[in-house]
Amino acid sequence: MRYTTVLLDLDHTLLDSDTSELLAFDETMRSVGVAEPQIHFADYAAINRAYWASVERGEITPDQVRVARFQEFAEFLGLAADATSMAATFVEGLGRHGELYPGSTELLENLRSSTSLGLVTNGLGDVQRSRIERLGLERYFDVIVISGEVGVSKPDPAIFELAFAGLGFPPSDTVVMVGDSLSSDMRGAANAGIAGCWYNPDRRPADPAVPLTHEITALGDLAPLVAGRLSGQVE
Ligand SMILES: [Mg+2]
Repeated sequence: MRYTTVLLDLDHTLLDSDTSELLAFDETMRSVGVAEPQIHFADYAAINRAYWASVERGEITPDQVRVARFQEFAEFLGLAADATSMAATFVEGLGRHGELYPGSTELLENLRSSTSLGLVTNGLGDVQRSRIERLGLERYFDVIVISGEVGVSKPDPAIFELAFAGLGFPPSDTVVMVGDSLSSDMRGAANAGIAGCWYNPDRRPADPAVPLTHEITALGDLAPLVAGRLSGQVE
């Protein structure tokens, strides 16, 4: 085995978070009387992204994102709606919607039998817990660390330290972090001194400033990479 401990990201790695967000957004907007929610989604998404980037920089906590993004969005739209209740509708929908990508369950089954598994996710505690429970993810993981619960977010090495502690401090060279985000997952892996495997299904260009150990474009490549049968080495 090349790696005996695998840390996985949830959103956009195992979980179809795009669908989750779209459906939750649709319900939220209809709840405040907006008839065609989809035409506003890109504006909402831009505001939301900026808040989460700020979480990654350690400037605000995930819980501060919850309502602030809807305050700003309602203002932007000139919508006289209560941001707190929009946020509550949205968060409830995020927990309830979104399925695992095809192959995720097989991957988790496979990895569970040969490695220690950790889930390390940036997100709101209640949203991620609802998803984890609904999708039956708990049984696969030896440790689950959610930024909204622990007060530190990827790429801060402190969140990785919490995962290492929950896994009995495995040697660094036996651990790989797998995720779709360069700024949180791959930067985080580098900060924590472990290998990073970039899951890049859309074949986006890498950022030369962010070190990568491996890159895969299909989840099916992860088990052979972890076992050492596939290099996935970044040139
Ligand atoms: Mg992700």
